[in-house]
Amino acid sequence: MDDVIIGLEIHVQLNRLESKMFCGCSTKYHNSPPNTHTCPVCLGLPGSLPVINRKAVESGIKVGLALNCHIEEETLFYRKNYYYPDLSKGFQISQYDYPLATNGHIMILGDDGIERNIRINRAHMEEDPGRLVHAGTIDRAKYTMVDYNRCGMSLLEVVTEPDLRSPKEARAFLDKLKSILEYLDVFDGSLEGAMRVDANISLRGGDRSEVKNISGFKGVEKALSYEITRQRNLARRNIKVVQETRHFDELRNITVSIRSKVGAHDYRYFPEADLVAMRIASWVPAIRDSLPELPDSRRERFVRQYGLTDDHAKSLTTEIKVADFYELVAARTAPKIAAVWIADVLKGELNYRNLGIESFDPEHMVQIVQLLEGDEITEHSAVAVIRDLLDKKGSSPQEIITSRGLGKAEDDVVEKAVAEAVAECSAAVADYRAGSERALNYIVGQVMKKTRGKASPGEVHDLVRAQVERL
Ligand code: ZN
Ligand code: MN
Repeated sequence: MDDVIIGLEIHVQLNRLESKMFCGCSTKYHNSPPNTHTCPVCLGLPGSLPVINRKAVESGIKVGLALNCHIEEETLFYRKNYYYPDLSKGFQISQYDYPLATNGHIMILGDDGIERNIRINRAHMEEDPGRLVHAGTIDRAKYTMVDYNRCGMSLLEVVTEPDLRSPKEARAFLDKLKSILEYLDVFDGSLEGAMRVDANISLRGGDRSEVKNISGFKGVEKALSYEITRQRNLARRNIKVVQETRHFDELRNITVSIRSKVGAHDYRYFPEADLVAMRIASWVPAIRDSLPELPDSRRERFVRQYGLTDDHAKSLTTEIKVADFYELVAARTAPKIAAVWIADVLKGELNYRNLGIESFDPEHMVQIVQLLEGDEITEHSAVAVIRDLLDKKGSSPQEIITSRGLGKAEDDVVEKAVAEAVAECSAAVADYRAGSERALNYIVGQVMKKTRGKASPGEVHDLVRAQVERL
């Protein structure tokens, strides 16, 4: 999609903090009734004064550094003036000139399969407004309710350069950003509204439209695909794209116009006189030293330390929880075998059930990999054990193996089954003698049936061949 130009503005809620951005209200409002986590400051009542949450600024700097940004010497808050019912103050405390962080970049996997840099223009701090709850769709709702619990939560707004070339690349960028934020432990992506995306999109040479407040990464992909088609259709009919703000209607999978584009000058930005400028340059070295290992370096280390393929290393490091799980298991098993079973099997079974890695006990994975290493269960049985554990049909690998008889059959049992099968399948034996290699597979199948999958197919194959040759 060479003519597609996409830039993103991502509002990240720093929701691992204890209190909001400028007041002492708790950030744990997600399961509370509406309007129960508020105070005069976050409601903007007359006479209330904001106080900066130092931890929030430190988290912002952490993210800035992880996104390879330059952290400004001094940073300043501004008032962004506008009226909307979710913001009772009539202005949002945000940043304008002197934002926290500028000029960064992160790597994503491009559509062409090659890693490339996506530039980040800036990352600035601001407070979250409240939440409007529409009765129905935004353009047809009979009424709308407002919940101020979210008001005053710390947000970091990350603004990219228009470097993305397709909805898929936008998705890859968001996945990468989320991965980094979770590694930094400043963000929990599972909470409602944790990340909201505004997407600017244009076709080369045309004006751009902005789709506001898309929640969910799938939503971003869908909204962008819809916009590309809409703009292409306009171009085909020689109609100019107007600069405007659009809303993505998730129920109908379309974008609808909500207003013409507002420029920065319309917001009458001016410095927030209730807050002083912060000299943050001196904070940076200590924060830089405290940064954890990030996804890209952990991935490289997995390749180096455990001898994994790059694909396995990537699959195991995207989510910090999966990476931690893997390292627990790899410390007590053969790391390459553990990688295959976690990246290829366990993750697939989890995805299928819409579960996270926390649904599986790492101790159980250690036991399963050790049983495989010791050749005590077949791969077929190991998959069955993993499925049973996830479906809560057993409390430990050993219990499931015993109760379902999944242990590898004793050698003499296998040998007996081989002798029986060869004796019963005289036609297949004749076919094999006549040159049909495939006839052996039929006999192997009969042995597997007799041993209920507990024998290893490779071994059985060798035994059957030996037995037939011996006849
Ligand atoms: Zn408050
Ligand atoms: Mn914003």
